[in-house]
Amino acid sequence: MSVYFVGAGPGDPELITLKGKRLLEEADITIYAGSLVNPQLLQYTRKGSEIFDSASMDLEEIISIIEKGINEGKKVVRLHTGDPAIYGAIQEQINLLEQKSISYEVIPGVSSMAAAAAALKREFTQPGVTQSIIITRIEGRTPVPQKEDLSLLSRHQGSMCIFLSVQKIDEVVSRLQEGYSPETPVAVIYKASWPEEKIVLGNLSDIADRVKEEEIEKTAMILVGDFIRGSGEPSKLYDSGFTHGFREAKQ
Ligand code: SAH
Repeated sequence: MSVYFVGAGPGDPELITLKGKRLLEEADITIYAGSLVNPQLLQYTRKGSEIFDSASMDLEEIISIIEKGINEGKKVVRLHTGDPAIYGAIQEQINLLEQKSISYEVIPGVSSMAAAAAALKREFTQPGVTQSIIITRIEGRTPVPQKEDLSLLSRHQGSMCIFLSVQKIDEVVSRLQEGYSPETPVAVIYKASWPEEKIVLGNLSDIADRVKEEEIEKTAMILVGDFIRGSGEPSKLYDSGFTHGFREAKQ
């Protein structure tokens, strides 16, 4: 038997993968991150299966539930919000499972950065605007390496997805202003794909005030960059004068 780290997606219970849903249906034990995972996803679990909320547990407690389950021949799902590989804190669990020779798999999920772009109806990578996305955060209890400080990353002026940082919006804005112009658009998406989703639009000069007016202090994605204007050039992919592997150019 194996442990499955499953990406739950950003909130909407239809945004889990088919594989993730199947594993939830089959699981004997599900441990979910109650602070962010939509509890509606637990509807997919089997009646009589065991369900634990990891919000109040430490790493040892989580691992001991997993280990006990595996020793009893049970199928264990560890359900993480969004995609487990982005600020998912799965590595420390994986390392302990490896020490104990417990096998595991990771099932990817729809990250909140994708759900936030979908809510905005914008493409991060528009030709003529930028071809790069920076995924980052401001430091909290977890430090961020100095060379990745927002003030340094902002110099690239690409599309940016800032996780875990809306509670420090003033500091975020002041560091971003070192690289981006004050008119650079910013969107803060609260609870993307949940019924209570909110989109706050502005630019680097006014977004902090708008976010405070809306009283958004957590579970929000800060998106930054000219991609938000949606004014990029058409891509070559659908350009009628451009040949690629699946289509010949029209004359
Ligand atoms: N692994 C997750 C991120 C976990 S870190 C993922 O891939 O999305 C938690 C942070 O993710 C939150 O502080 C917030 O910045 C962001 N987040 C998670 N769910 C969100 C949602 N539905 N809408 C907006 N931001 C969200």
